[in-house]
Amino acid sequence: MSKTSYNPFQAAQKQFDHAADLLELNQAARDFLRNPMREFHFTIPVRMDDGTKKIFNAFRIHHNDARGPAKGGIRFHPMETIDTVRALSMWMTWKTSVVDIPLGGGKGGVVCDPHNLSQFEQEQICRGWIRQIVKNIGPNSDIPAPDVMTNPQHMLWMLDEFETINGGRFPGTITGKPLGMGGSQGRTEATGYGTIITVREALRELNIKPENTVVSIQGFGNVARYAVELYNKMGGKVICVSSWDNNDQKSYAFRKKEGINLEELTEITDSFGGIDKNKAQDLGYELLDGDTWIEQEVDILIPAALENQITEKNADKIHQRVKLIAEGANGPTAPDADEILNKQNLLVIPDFLANAGGVVCSYFEQVQNNMNYYWSKDEVLAKLDMKMTSAYASVSDFAKQNNVTLREAAYLISVDRVANACQSRGWI
Ligand code: NAD
Repeated sequence: MSKTSYNPFQAAQKQFDHAADLLELNQAARDFLRNPMREFHFTIPVRMDDGTKKIFNAFRIHHNDARGPAKGGIRFHPMETIDTVRALSMWMTWKTSVVDIPLGGGKGGVVCDPHNLSQFEQEQICRGWIRQIVKNIGPNSDIPAPDVMTNPQHMLWMLDEFETINGGRFPGTITGKPLGMGGSQGRTEATGYGTIITVREALRELNIKPENTVVSIQGFGNVARYAVELYNKMGGKVICVSSWDNNDQKSYAFRKKEGINLEELTEITDSFGGIDKNKAQDLGYELLDGDTWIEQEVDILIPAALENQITEKNADKIHQRVKLIAEGANGPTAPDADEILNKQNLLVIPDFLANAGGVVCSYFEQVQNNMNYYWSKDEVLAKLDMKMTSAYASVSDFAKQNNVTLREAAYLISVDRVANACQSRGWI
């Protein structure tokens, strides 16, 4: 999908402006909340394996920390832009607020493509990123985590650099760490599982049994795969997933009408979530154009790849059987497309609610780090379920009582909480 005319930050601001209008926020509150509080732009020099030096551009943005330290992932992506990071940091503020955890919103990124970098080069980027931002992150100020194309190993390299510079052990500085190194059980599963917990609650309200539903998913990375796992456990069938093919520089969809097999597809998927198209065909998957994930005759769509994937151009291709869209990715629906979905009476579980499981579990990871005492996986997942279920119920109840969409309800609840925190601090 082309990204040329789409600016995610403008989309995020448009969504915020709508909430600000409904909440009748004063001008100072609008000016303050529609922009990040702090932005860091920096460069990371890296000695490449061939001996040459290469400079990578990187960012960290704190959108808002009124309710607690800034919190949000770091992306490695060749198309990363400052406006993408701004948008993602703003969505993090609303996400931590809607699930009511004592954290704010931040996001980071490095313009790079780890497909073309050795492990050593990636380690240098991680350590260089920390060296540039070390004074402005920490368990009480800003807590990074993994996101697209970053993983627990990257987080551990970053933590190690932070701890080496500061001379001590501060595991709560970064979440998404490996198990046994301060990571939490359940963190890897948390975002995808959280998305499906919100799907389960929405289906309950719609009076539909999960075992009678069929799903199509965009992406096959961390969020998508664990969404498939929990949804399958609930008896649902995934008939289509998609992924980015780095060799062909395009995406493909993989369809099996009797239901995809998570294990066999995972075995032929690289560490970036790219499915091997030849092996998939050998296993009996139909190979389709990447954009066709949205046209499938299913009950539920789960975009779980990148932002700006459901647009004015393809929203009308959604099959009339679809009843529910759960936004596993951040910002997958452009604001103009949102209006089309509303007219089609589709129930849309908005991104910052549907994919909040990751940050909820990151918060649990920090709590465990602070206690230096670790919970079992069952305990973590039970707490995750409770938090996601209650957040979904609050948003859904608010939507019904005020006759607004789930997205509007989620925005009204979360922006109101953040605005109140800023006001109590005397900022606005
Ligand atoms: P990932 O890197 O593990 O996987 C991304 C997947 O999307 C891969 O399968 C990749 O091949 C696919 N993809 C990339 N471009 C595509 C395209 N144009 N068409 C089809 N597929 C494409 O990333 P992830 O962690 O699963 O994150 C996915 C989304 O969820 C992102 O928007 C991310 O910000 C959001 N998110 C992730 C987490 C988390 O905990 N991982 C939490 C909240 C939100």
